[in-house]
Amino acid sequence: MSALSYVSEDKNSAWATYLAQVERVLPYLGDLSKWADTLRHPKRALIVDIPLEMDDGSVRHFEGYRVQHNLSRGPGKGGVRFHPDVTLEEVMALSAWMTVKCAAINLPFGGAKGGVRVDPRELSRKELERLTRRYTSEIGSIIGPQQDIPAPDVGTNPQVMAWMMDTWSMNVGATSTGVVTGKPIHLGGSLGRVKATGRGVFVTGRAMAQRINLPLENARVAVQGFGNVGSVAAELFSEAGALIVAVQDHSATLYNASGIDVAALTEWQQQTGSISGYRGAMSVSHEAFWEQGYDIVVPAALEGQITADRARKLVCKLVLEGANGPTLPAADDILKERGITVVPDVICNAGGVTVSYFEWVQDFSSFFWSEDEINERLDRIMEQALLAVWNKSLELGVTLRTAAYAVACERILEARRERGLYP
Ligand code: NAD
Repeated sequence: MSALSYVSEDKNSAWATYLAQVERVLPYLGDLSKWADTLRHPKRALIVDIPLEMDDGSVRHFEGYRVQHNLSRGPGKGGVRFHPDVTLEEVMALSAWMTVKCAAINLPFGGAKGGVRVDPRELSRKELERLTRRYTSEIGSIIGPQQDIPAPDVGTNPQVMAWMMDTWSMNVGATSTGVVTGKPIHLGGSLGRVKATGRGVFVTGRAMAQRINLPLENARVAVQGFGNVGSVAAELFSEAGALIVAVQDHSATLYNASGIDVAALTEWQQQTGSISGYRGAMSVSHEAFWEQGYDIVVPAALEGQITADRARKLVCKLVLEGANGPTLPAADDILKERGITVVPDVICNAGGVTVSYFEWVQDFSSFFWSEDEINERLDRIMEQALLAVWNKSLELGVTLRTAAYAVACERILEARRERGLYP
């Protein structure tokens, strides 16, 4: 466990999961392992208080965070999560996964993440705007286009990014579009950004399915989480001829052995706010999601969903980690023993940060690319990154996760070594 005084002893926490993943790569780092402790120590963690005047005149306080895990390879990059269960420790883990992800894809960024402990669904639009603006002001001194660039995550969206961009710009006295990514298109956002993470899950999934001789035509796919990531991944797999047989969100679990109509479910979800009550599939229990037979499972909700118990029950050939940290380390071992291939989060869901990088570059140059150009570059970068990790896994005889960590940690620690320690 970590020696950090502000970390809990919870062995199933996201931070503990991250530390266990780092532990597994240490034997493959050679001389660089001298610097490995840098991976276990977030560079900077800011906790802020957000007092908010509610529409009824009362005042409530919310806790917010911004963690910069590692900036050796460039400015911090990572989303902002608005969720009632967010903790400093969770944000630390999410920021560390961003460090590894940016390095695994070879983007010139370090890792960061932010969050506010709030249920955005309970706030009015005006309250959400005031909360976002105050949070942005509070973390304003450590973010910026060259310092740390936030983006959307669970519970945040392009509108929240627009308010963040406006607040930071007002505070520095100049419009700065590059301070956040995932913005609306006419504020310097990038075409293709909204679907980029789901697209990356599909592209890496398709490439891996080919390698393990799994045809996508009629493949049985289960998707947990039907938000930004899960719904797009489901749409693209369905377009490729796969059957989306199970979908789960926070409200319901749906099952249809002949395949769920993803377009109709998306429309239902957009109208009602969840998948609950959709008539084109059977409603089953939450746990039943993990007990059916599939070819591909896409966890695209929250951390820690594939526990050891669920890993023992799961029948599939491929797990595509759309979410960050969905598989606990003990479950990882069980999936490996059972011959189930896992494309790890740090590669599988990196499509979002890759197009965020494109957005940041386009903002700096004030020159914007077509959606076809973006998708073509995204697909190529994702496929190349997956191939490099696949080759590393064969070379070292390890899982794709440990191989991805080996590729990424070599880059991070090499940068650390070359920069040296200050002073
Ligand atoms: P989102 O808020 O759009 O959707 C989250 C989905 O998960 C919703 O359908 C919600 O109902 C469902 N969900 C929540 N709790 C659940 C539970 N206990 N059981 C089942 N379903 C549950 O969020 P998103 O942007 O799609 O992000 C999903 C995951 O992908 C997160 O782990 C996030 O960090 C990761 N991710 C997102 C992006 C991005 O660009 N949005 C990029 C990389 C990784």
